[in-house]
Amino acid sequence: MISLDTTRADRVGIYGAERDITPRLDALADEALLFRRARTPVGNTLLAHASLFTGLTPRAHGAIPLGDGARLPDSARTIAEDLREAGWQTAAFTTHVTWLTPKFGFDQGFEHFDVTRDPASDVLARARAWLDARDPERPYFLFVHLFDVHSDRNTGRPYRAPEASRGLFTDRQPGVARDWESEHVKGTLFLEAVNAGRFELREGERDELLAQYDEGLHGLDNDVGGFLEELRREQPNELWTVVLSDHGEQFQEHGGLLHHSLYEEVLHVPMMFLPPSSEVPAWELPRWLDAPVTLMDVRPTLLALFGLDADRTSYGRDLLPWLEQREPPPRAQALPLAWGDRGMILGDLKLLRSPDEPWELYDLAADPAEQHDLAQEPGMQERIAQLVAQLDALTQGHAELEALLRGADDGGVQLSSEDLEFLSEMGYLQR
Ligand SMILES: [Zn+2]
Repeated sequence: MISLDTTRADRVGIYGAERDITPRLDALADEALLFRRARTPVGNTLLAHASLFTGLTPRAHGAIPLGDGARLPDSARTIAEDLREAGWQTAAFTTHVTWLTPKFGFDQGFEHFDVTRDPASDVLARARAWLDARDPERPYFLFVHLFDVHSDRNTGRPYRAPEASRGLFTDRQPGVARDWESEHVKGTLFLEAVNAGRFELREGERDELLAQYDEGLHGLDNDVGGFLEELRREQPNELWTVVLSDHGEQFQEHGGLLHHSLYEEVLHVPMMFLPPSSEVPAWELPRWLDAPVTLMDVRPTLLALFGLDADRTSYGRDLLPWLEQREPPPRAQALPLAWGDRGMILGDLKLLRSPDEPWELYDLAADPAEQHDLAQEPGMQERIAQLVAQLDALTQGHAELEALLRGADDGGVQLSSEDLEFLSEMGYLQR
């Protein structure tokens, strides 16, 4: 399973990107089960990955990234624990040095856990070495988290890219690109400063930032594509691969940069399952599922796929009946946003609110860019009240599950000054 942190769906070629940003993933997608409307519940790396691993909403798994912090409770079951108990070899290579760490409970179920700030090429090389050293007779679960697309800290241009991808899309308009080495506010700090109103983007600069981001994704596509192509060639018979992202990124579609909002540019993520290459003909690939799904559906689906009857406490659903074409696509399931306090997606309806703002309501079928707030229309208050009541009931249930999981262990995490500095550089702390 590979998580491409901060990759928004619509920058991936097969999801409709107008530039040739991800040629290698697009080629792999010819052999994939693809999820057209996959979503994360929240634009936060810790919460999204905890939901991915457990199948629980953020309110239910109860991890908290900031403030006093809270780790993923030991009593929450992760896909790594499920597989390790079934005798699989398990390894994780992650690149968020505060959150995707043992301190926050992310090593649960992993025999080998490696966390660094390294670029994809280095991380994948170490994952490769682990694969080469494993016991070839036993199944394995490898999780790789790559941070390359995420904005850079404060070292130069906001989005980095390997040398070979630089200049593919940037620097097309004279006078727009900055000399990032000489700017006094750089990287993520610059993006934060724009969000805070301390800087204004120049004419054309929003497109330049998006082009930088696209170049980073192009570089990541090259690394990941090469890694997966080789693995699928070597292990044609039993290797399943999942490629997805934890959240997207905003480029002022709704005013902001980074990924703190709950609009579709943040919530809509790419997600694909690649069956073993020898089985591709039987799966009738590529095949798209149009029904809405979430990261929480991954764990129950993998458990079903591998015939494991582990504890399946999960808000996510087993999508295997659809994958195997035994049943029609799954029906839409309510997706509570953030901790269940910020809104909900129900089919095509999306209810959301930004901090200290009133509720907004969108019809995603008619208005996928979320430009027309139905909450402004007369007579909508009753509909919104109904949706809020439904969301409150869901959230209440998820809060009860969290209390159960948490039990006596309050799971508090002491953030060190290095953690705070790192999170601050990444744009997660307001200053
Ligand atoms: Zn992330």
